Amino acid sequence: MSSISEIFGCMVFNEDVMRERLPKDVYKSMVKTIEQGKPIDSKIADVVANAMKDWAIAKGATHYTHWFQPLTGVTAEKHDAFISPVGDCKVVMEFSGKELIRGESDASSFPSGGIRATFEARGYTTWDSSSYAFVKDGTLYIPTAFCSYTGEALDAKTPLLRSMEAISNQSLRIVRLFGDSLTQRVTPTVGAEQEYFIVDKEIYDLRKDLMYSGRTLFGAPAPKGQELEDHYFGPLNSRISAYMAELDENLWKLGINSKTKHNEAAPAQHELAPIYATTNMAVDQNLLIMEYMKKTAEKHGLVCLLHEKPYKGVNGSGKHNNWSLATDTGKNLLDPGKTPAENIQFLLILAGIIKAVDEYQELMRISVAHAGNDHRLGAGEAPPAITSVFVGEELEEIIDAIVNGKTYTSVKASVMDLGIPTVPTFRKDTTDRNRTSPFAFTGNKFEFRMVGSSQNIALPNIVLNTAIAKEFKEFADILENAENFDIAVAQILKETFTNHRRVIFSGNGYSKEWEAEAEKRGLCNLKTAVDAYKVFPMQKNIDLFKMFNVMSSVEINSRTDILFENYSKIINIEALTMIEMASRDIIPAVSAYIADVAGSAAAKQAVVPDASCFMEEDLITELSELNNAAYKAVKVLRNTVSNAAAMKDHILQAEAYHDDVIPAMNDLRDKVDRMETITASEYWPLPTYGDMLFRV
Ligand code: ADP
Ligand code: MG
Repeated sequence: MSSISEIFGCMVFNEDVMRERLPKDVYKSMVKTIEQGKPIDSKIADVVANAMKDWAIAKGATHYTHWFQPLTGVTAEKHDAFISPVGDCKVVMEFSGKELIRGESDASSFPSGGIRATFEARGYTTWDSSSYAFVKDGTLYIPTAFCSYTGEALDAKTPLLRSMEAISNQSLRIVRLFGDSLTQRVTPTVGAEQEYFIVDKEIYDLRKDLMYSGRTLFGAPAPKGQELEDHYFGPLNSRISAYMAELDENLWKLGINSKTKHNEAAPAQHELAPIYATTNMAVDQNLLIMEYMKKTAEKHGLVCLLHEKPYKGVNGSGKHNNWSLATDTGKNLLDPGKTPAENIQFLLILAGIIKAVDEYQELMRISVAHAGNDHRLGAGEAPPAITSVFVGEELEEIIDAIVNGKTYTSVKASVMDLGIPTVPTFRKDTTDRNRTSPFAFTGNKFEFRMVGSSQNIALPNIVLNTAIAKEFKEFADILENAENFDIAVAQILKETFTNHRRVIFSGNGYSKEWEAEAEKRGLCNLKTAVDAYKVFPMQKNIDLFKMFNVMSSVEINSRTDILFENYSKIINIEALTMIEMASRDIIPAVSAYIADVAGSAAAKQAVVPDASCFMEEDLITELSELNNAAYKAVKVLRNTVSNAAAMKDHILQAEAYHDDVIPAMNDLRDKVDRMETITASEYWPLPTYGDMLFRV
């Protein structure tokens, strides 16, 4: 491998390449576009497009694609060659500014949640010039936003960019109040730690459930799980380590700062964390990380599972979405800082964030609601379905002092009189970690820990950016007109911390007691994705997104529809897969085993007429009872699925999948898993949990 610094970003049309390849004025205008999120000047688009094309061709590209994020949860791309005919038998390589900036495609096969009738199939992709283009697999990838003919967003990126604009504008108003006249833009920064499982490809190929649904729908636990806690941070085996090395190299070439890798809590589970980036880039990069995790695995005879819960009984996978606010002057607004004046600004920002989480608890929950994530949230391995904030002991004491109008004495014995709004500096990292909290302050950033491993992180960040922007706006509206700034800030802090104290929780988020306590505090507990989707279009959410033009009510309603539909489709696929596996593989295999056991009993007695056949009789009785029960459970499942599938109303349908189909699936699984433990290995048609978790 060449040195990292040589290969890093070598496939990215980044600032260095732009400086090298663009005329000076064009380069300057591009940098402005990127840094300030300004629209690109159409005059320079042709120049940029041409430079991009020449650079891409030098990197081996023959095609370009507008790369976008439709609401399918995965990315989409359609490749066009750069060629353009000259005369009858010649072509030249061409790429115009128009082709760079805008693409048109038939959008009718992408989910639109009813926004678009099929006869209005046009969809447009527009260049997101604030995220770098890159070359991969012989194609120039241009990150784009995707909207309908009538201008509604049909993707994850458009509202994300709008939300970034909102938080920048409102954060600017806050820093201006504290005398910062230099900052021109505030960007939310995101670092998403990605968890995943690895399974051997040969074993994977024998599991239809993994192939169709990404998780095991059957499987008795292996004798060993994660109880010895020997996998977390354990040494990497050579196969995994070779895989990770190639993955890193692929990501570095694309300019992704893949930094940390380690074994996770469950066997065959791992994590990759990149260094944080501006939110829209972080979203693009996370999608590429997930894509390369899968692709690179194939080359090593492995398969990467990004599902939130591939295996019952061992930890599932999540994504820690680390979030902060950075100024273009290089400050982290969530850094508590050292001088009292800056701390007031920090406390105000903290107050805004806490208020946002409390007021928009449902939205935070909705943003991570996904059929796969239902297996993790509240299951004692990931945060509960209740949204709360952990700020650490020291900040919590400061907040309580403000609420109670008391003097705060810091651990270091510095004193603050809260009559005047000054706060002593406090040491960083006096906070211990609380890994059971859904939203935890970790020194200079918040870590949103409810996100599922397979999800696009756009929606969680859209929600954070927009909800927090709204609170900053409310504060700025008051403070910009305040007669006495100091008194007004002190008032806001006291009021906000008092009113939203209920959302701060430092205890064990996995415990039953917290569920009861949260209910007393009036916090919402939307247990399932279906419960969460129902409240997406509630008025306060529509008002919030409308306030900053992040999403219209039409867009919210269409997204809600898509979420319900998607949920139903996922459960439908899982149920059909179970029916097929049980009917065609498992039940016949158990029958064959029963027949052979019966045959061997008969053979035994043919030789020794009095020989005891206790084992055979007992085993056959138990297995045939279970196999009959499994057969019945398949029938029940088949009925519930066809009932659910026939429903027209999206909400009722999702409810039917959740309330009727899932219990029928669980019942079938129970029978099958019990049979697995008493059927001879050679008869069992599927690799076991032990094979999948320990043979990598
Ligand atoms: P830990 O979770 O153990 O605290 P790190 O401090 O290394 O781990 O951070 C985890 C993730 O948080 C990394 O992806 C890192 O880049 C990201 N991160 C660190 N600082 C920020 C920040 N200011 N904004 C957003 N993400 C950040
Ligand atoms: Mg972390």
